[in-house]
Amino acid sequence: MMLPRFFQFENYNVIDIKEFLSDRRIEIHLSRKDDAISQCSRCGSDLGKGAPRGDHSMRIESLPIFGNRTFINLRRYRFHCQTCNKARSEAVPFLSQLSPHLTSDYGWWLGRFCEIAAVRRVAEFVGKDGMTLWRLDYNRMIQMLSHYSLPKVRRLSVDEVYVRRPSRHCPSREKCFLTVITDLDTRKVIWVTDTRSKAGLDQFFQIFGAEACRQVEVVAIDQHDAFKASVQEYCPQATVVWDRFHIIKNFEDAVNETRKEIIERTQHDVVKQRARGKYRFLFLKKASRRTESERDHIEEVMHLNHDFYKLELIKERMITFFDQPTLEEAKRVFDEVGDWIFQSHFKPLMDWHNRLEKGWETLKNYFTFRVTTSLSEAINNVIKSVIRRGFGYRNLEYFKLKIMQVCGYLNSKYMPVPIQ
Ligand SMILES: [Zn+2]
Repeated sequence: MMLPRFFQFENYNVIDIKEFLSDRRIEIHLSRKDDAISQCSRCGSDLGKGAPRGDHSMRIESLPIFGNRTFINLRRYRFHCQTCNKARSEAVPFLSQLSPHLTSDYGWWLGRFCEIAAVRRVAEFVGKDGMTLWRLDYNRMIQMLSHYSLPKVRRLSVDEVYVRRPSRHCPSREKCFLTVITDLDTRKVIWVTDTRSKAGLDQFFQIFGAEACRQVEVVAIDQHDAFKASVQEYCPQATVVWDRFHIIKNFEDAVNETRKEIIERTQHDVVKQRARGKYRFLFLKKASRRTESERDHIEEVMHLNHDFYKLELIKERMITFFDQPTLEEAKRVFDEVGDWIFQSHFKPLMDWHNRLEKGWETLKNYFTFRVTTSLSEAINNVIKSVIRRGFGYRNLEYFKLKIMQVCGYLNSKYMPVPIQ
């Protein structure tokens, strides 16, 4: 029989190839060579040429040939292994490390596919069930993690991600978060830890190592005291910078609360009606981004109620804060905004301003380093897609690895060891 080169199998002879046109399937049948010397599938030592202690049949799926699903059929033997001192199955040289039902080539290909497309989509495409592929993807990432080493990074960003609702299985709200550590310069995720507690970040710094910690210059965090405490303990030389987007988000929340308070206070029905519901976002919008009709709308409300005029001034001024060229100018904006807030007696904004005032020593670092953090769009998309497919709820470990795979270095583009 004439066989192409890709039909050569180490230790085996091809004895039959059957083609089933009805379901586009090829079955290849192998027989173990008489003089083959196999290795122990556990310890790798030679099994010699002793008599087999038993065997069983295997059907392994290989890469499709011309669009035909292809299966390899063989018998796998057990021999006595001197090293293990036990009967062991022989290693099948072309069997995937990730699944006993796939060849290494096909395992590699499926694994690579799962790096760039959603597992559910890959499953549909190759005609396998989602769970099988999910397990392959998971095993592959676990194996890659054992070869993974953290890159040396000088500028870090630490972000918390809310990944699931508290449930019967996981009543603690803290455990619904993951902490994502990103390299600010490359925007790559380098590590993901459980929870958003100090212990979670501590764990990262311990793995990162004392030497690497000493090299860290800047750590961007949100206004979460637990993160700050951890950074101060492990990287006391590093400057802590608050996440700009987080501060703006808190500011917008306070503006929104203030809007509600003004509505409560007013007797004017038109104002009540024109400042709530679908109009609520208009009050957060930057003036220059509003459409003409939105501008008219806001102007009417401001005209009827002067509190809204004050709120508009405060918001517009604060928006310029992070863009100020110097710390002095930023401080001037911050104090000015503060004066207006306190004169207007807007309670939610007063609380917000007080909190930032207390943290001024940290807040001002922004004007030295000007790091912009917040999770990248890519990370947020991964999180959303994993949540949508329900896998994240079941297994947070998978979730963590998946973020590192798609947004970091835990993939075949960066890992030198091809996992098959
Ligand atoms: Zn062995």
